[in-house]
Amino acid sequence: MIHTGRHFLQIPGPTNVPDRVLRATDRPVIDHRGPEFAVLGAEVLEGLKAVFKTNGPVVIYPSSGSGAWEAAIVNTLSAGDRVLMFETGHFSNLWRDIALRHGLNVDYVPGNWRRGAQSADAEQKLKEDTQKAIKAVMVVHNETSTGVTSRIAEVRQAMDRARHPALLMVDTISSLASIDYRHDEWGVDVTVGGSQKGLMLPPGLSFNAVSEKALAANKSATMSRYYWDWQEMLKPNRAGFFPYTPATNLLWGLREALAMLQEEGLANVFRRHDRHAEATRAAVKAWGLEVWCEEPKEYSSSLTAVLMPQGHDADKLREIILAAFDMSLGTGLAKLAGKVFRIGHLGHFNDLMLAGTLSGVEMGLQLAGMPHKAGGVSAALVSLAKNHRP
Ligand code: PLP
Repeated sequence: MIHTGRHFLQIPGPTNVPDRVLRATDRPVIDHRGPEFAVLGAEVLEGLKAVFKTNGPVVIYPSSGSGAWEAAIVNTLSAGDRVLMFETGHFSNLWRDIALRHGLNVDYVPGNWRRGAQSADAEQKLKEDTQKAIKAVMVVHNETSTGVTSRIAEVRQAMDRARHPALLMVDTISSLASIDYRHDEWGVDVTVGGSQKGLMLPPGLSFNAVSEKALAANKSATMSRYYWDWQEMLKPNRAGFFPYTPATNLLWGLREALAMLQEEGLANVFRRHDRHAEATRAAVKAWGLEVWCEEPKEYSSSLTAVLMPQGHDADKLREIILAAFDMSLGTGLAKLAGKVFRIGHLGHFNDLMLAGTLSGVEMGLQLAGMPHKAGGVSAALVSLAKNHRP
């Protein structure tokens, strides 16, 4: 089928890349050991700190987010170490699997995938650990498979109340530059990020923001590492360089994306995501469907997972919407396959793009003959107008 106009990429990442960022990457590759690169390298390494809200170093890898997950582990831990993790969904499962592959002893707090990590569970586990055997608490901030956001500040407070010295490691792959996040203020030791969501870049870069405590742990951690080794990175980074060939053109894109975030202001970026998430939930409610996240305090501002009525296949709906309206929505992952579809409303996005997205869903529900009520889009528009600030 021939489609006209732009494809609607409304999966929760990779997200729509702004033309400004695309244009910025469209240039000849430069010598990554030359003086022009040093200026670029230094600028993006410094500029990223504001996005993570840290004064410490941020390491940039030419890899997908999974690489930065692995990097957080191999840089700070040793085989046999005990770590505390929380089952929030598919992505916490994957991070746990990486931990297990590296021989960590994972204490995995079970969850129903409809709630975030609970600080009370963290506090209890840490208080019980009188020998201080737990070396790291590892949490996915925004669980992209479910649309549930864990409250990291509360996890930090729980760790402090338990007076536990474990490192705090947080995956912000689908929250960075979309949902309020504060690496330094929340005492996070390693923050894992990726380029392809809130940062509005194509896939291909990932990040570790690193605290002093994590750097100290790095000195005694015995897991073998080369490609991911922070020390190998931080040395040449001081002069704006990388130890191996960096993803040069993505770094030009990153420079532009950082400029865009700075122009809008991070607080406004977060507010925009909150508004779009709220309007999306208004639509879902008006359709008579259910938001998968069970706890309003944990609603994600970067995506909404929508539960299908019993006996109706979310992937069938997605297929129909893709064919008819050229819009991609997120599939249900692992045990949520067929049960939920996910609407991504993060990154380079605005009110009319959201209105178009929700119109596509509403028309798709009609075409697919799925049980629902009309009026979701209208409810979203009312919500957007109510929260509009010129
Ligand atoms: N963590 C979260 C929360 C994610 O959403 C993703 C990917 O969507 C990952 C980790 C894995 O990142 P990647 O697919 O870039 O390796």
